[in-house]
Formats: sequence, C-alpha cells, structure tokens
Amino acid sequence: MEYIDIFITSFKDYARYVGNEVLNPHWGNYLYWLIGISIFFYALELTMPWRKDQPKIRKDFWLDAFYMFFNFFLFSLVGYYAFSNVFVQLFNDFLALFGVKNLVAIEINTWPVWAQLLTLFILRDFIHWNVHRLLHRVPALWEFHKVHHSVEQMGFAAHLRFHWMETIVYRTIEYIPLAMIGFGIQEFLLVHLFALAIGHFNHSNIRVPLGPLKYIFNNPQMHIWHHAKHIPSKTGVNFGISLSIWDYIFQTHYIPKDGRDEPLGFDDMDKFPSELKDQLVYGFKRKKKKIEE
Ligand SMILES: [Zn+2]
Ligand SMILES: [Zn+2]
Repeated sequence: MEYIDIFITSFKDYARYVGNEVLNPHWGNYLYWLIGISIFFYALELTMPWRKDQPKIRKDFWLDAFYMFFNFFLFSLVGYYAFSNVFVQLFNDFLALFGVKNLVAIEINTWPVWAQLLTLFILRDFIHWNVHRLLHRVPALWEFHKVHHSVEQMGFAAHLRFHWMETIVYRTIEYIPLAMIGFGIQEFLLVHLFALAIGHFNHSNIRVPLGPLKYIFNNPQMHIWHHAKHIPSKTGVNFGISLSIWDYIFQTHYIPKDGRDEPLGFDDMDKFPSELKDQLVYGFKRKKKKIEE
C-alpha cells in the first residue's frame, strides 16, 4: 500500500510541477530554458550552417522537436517519475533488510557549492560516457540506441532524440554511484542546464573550432563522427556526452578528417521505422520478431 501511495503522490506532484513550469516562467524553469537554449542554437544554425546542403527545416526536425519535449517532460509525466520513486523506496527497503540505512560513502556536502557542482558534473558525465559505450556494445541496448543514431541530417534537436528506455538505463545505472556521494545541495539546475546546452551544441549544424578546449569539451566536429555511417569500429567512436576528455584518455576518439559531408546513420537504415509510434516500441518488437523467425 505504501508503494501505491508513493506512486499516486509522485504522479500528482509531477503533474502539478509540469503545470507550474508551463504557466510560470522564471529563472529556475527548465521548460523555458529548454526553449531558450533551443532557439539560441537554431538561430546559429540558420545564420552560419556548417552542412550547407541541409534544408533549414531538416529531415525529422518536427519529430525531434517532439522527442525533445517528450524525453525532457512528458515521459516523466506519464509515470516515470512515479515509478522511479517507488523503485527507490523498494530499493531502500531492500537495503534496510540487511541493515543498510544509508548509501552515502563520501560526504561531500560539507564542500563549497561550486566544488559539489563540479564533482557532480564530472562524475555524472563519466558515468554517462560508460553507459553510452554499453548502449553500443550490448546488442539489446543498441536496438534502443538506434533511435538516436537514425538521424540523417544533423541539428540541435537531434540531441534529445532517443528511445525512452535510455532514460531508464541511464537513471538506473547512475543511481547507486550518485547516491553514494552525500550531496548537500538539492538544486542541480546549473549542472543540468550546462549539460543541456553542451548536448545541443554537439548536435548543432555549426562549425565552432574550440582550439585546445576540444580535448576537454565535446563539440559538433567531434560528435558528427559518432553519428557517421562509415567508421572503422563496429562498436562506435567518440562516446563523449558533455566532455570529450574520456575519449582521449581511453583512446576511443576518432576524427580522421572534416566530417561535414559524411553520411550519417548505420547499416540497414532502410529497415528502421520512420514513424514515432513504431520507434517508441522499437527495441522490443524486434526481439519478438527474432524469436518468431
Ligand atoms: Zn551513440
Ligand atoms: Zn548524438
């Protein structure tokens, strides 16, 4: 019963939260930051496009715009937030059976706020880099990740074009390591917005040479090769999310030449569904089909 209560309360809380976000623009409002950051990068794409042959409203622009809001807000609204709260409670109760009351291993809540934010940003990005590699290496996960790689014309909105299962995979894997660090701050807005802006930047159809900073930050000229159709490695290259440094450290970086004219996607793209309703159930359907065959 306790879990059902948590589910209903969380569902209502989140619905109220989204309603509030839409109706009250303010500085801590994710929805309006998402819109603002998107307009900023779209304006750059329109004024200084890198891949000049792409139409201004590129292929799948509106589909990706939908994904952007779906993955940022709606998926949580339809129950992810509620489900995850229930699972966190279940997990904590499970740990309590073994007498574990607290996962915190390192107390960093006494550190200055900037140091906590920086640690959160770097640690989370490194976890995400590893999860991203898993999405490429584990065949069942790659089926879901194909949604992100089905982009054929690159643009800022492709950043949040991904299968909803990715949200579950990322959140589940990051949960324990992040819970082990006792953050003293509840407000991760800055870290989220910074990651959102870099993610939009990486997918933008613009050319911005970063100089030596390219060894630290991901960028459009590096990430285009992550989406390139023809690469030497079957399991992918340039897995960086916000930071490129992990790819340089672990030797998974690959920028053989200017990638402006590289075709994007993966082999047998023609078999990949182009409609949203088919993409939402993609990774599951395929497995079923294989068993039938
Ligand atoms: Zn990928
Ligand atoms: Zn991408």
